[in-house]
Amino acid sequence: MTAAVLFDLDETLLDRTTSLIAFLADQHNRFRSRLGYAAFEAWRDRFIAMDARGHTHKSVVYPTILAEFSGDPAAADDLLDDYRERCSSFARPFAGMAETLQELRSRGMYLGIITNGETAFQSRHIEALGLDRMVDAVLISQTEGLRKPDPALFERAAARLCAPASECLFIGDNPVADVLGAHNAGMSTAWFQCGRDWPADLPPPPGAVIERLSEVLALVDDVSAVR
Ligand SMILES: [Mg+2]
Repeated sequence: MTAAVLFDLDETLLDRTTSLIAFLADQHNRFRSRLGYAAFEAWRDRFIAMDARGHTHKSVVYPTILAEFSGDPAAADDLLDDYRERCSSFARPFAGMAETLQELRSRGMYLGIITNGETAFQSRHIEALGLDRMVDAVLISQTEGLRKPDPALFERAAARLCAPASECLFIGDNPVADVLGAHNAGMSTAWFQCGRDWPADLPPPPGAVIERLSEVLALVDDVSAVR
């Protein structure tokens, strides 16, 4: 039986790459005169590569890329402030996000989000997608003082949804932080694959593998698919 369904945010509910590219196009246009010789496509491609799906902090990304393109070094702080302030206004969900969450709720599931990141930045994205009204609990690592894949963070989320971990299903895109983290905390799991391969140096995904959020609806009815 599944009592609660929990999701990662970036690249699981939030189509982060698409959203980020839309923001970068707008930012490049507004800051163009300070970015050196970089055309947008070159700036975007270098940013996306260095960002590495959010793993590199933007306080490192901006000064590095400015130096590479001979931009104004003093622009780094302004670009970072602008990123923190405006990125969420370009937030776009993956297809079926709202419909899937609404259907899960109508079936009596409790819903939660566990995300690694900065409280203010992640909260803005959650509000931009309307998720604050669609889920019952949001746990952001900076607020909680714990980061995925620490099992204590998953256990805290389950407790906040008043469900034992064994009755929670967790969906995320990161093999280690999300899937193995939730599995080690005793949750069922689904890996949101996004067209990527599971790392060869890890044990195989312990639960389901999905390509679309709407596939979660079938998983909550079939516990054998996620164990
Ligand atoms: Mg993610």
